[in-house]
Amino acid sequence: MVEVKLIFCPQCEDVRKLAFDLRRCFCGEAWGHYCDDGLNAVIGGGAIPLGFENKSFVEALKTRPVDRMGKRFEAFVIPEKCPTVIDET
Ligand SMILES: [Zn+2]
Repeated sequence: MVEVKLIFCPQCEDVRKLAFDLRRCFCGEAWGHYCDDGLNAVIGGGAIPLGFENKSFVEALKTRPVDRMGKRFEAFVIPEKCPTVIDET
């Protein structure tokens, strides 16, 4: 399953998409970045990692309706123990 990773900051409730460069939330406490392999990520500062299941997200974007509720997509909270996310908090 290909997924887009994001971080949620419990302090300021900001959500940021991870990238190869370091990203921080609005208050600056939570941070994270992808590793060079583009799959693994390193996070810290109390960041809570989230995942968007890419296929369902892209499908929902493509089928954005004009005037009715959009299609749902799969998003989830990544567990504390995850082999692809290193938490340095
Ligand atoms: Zn924050």
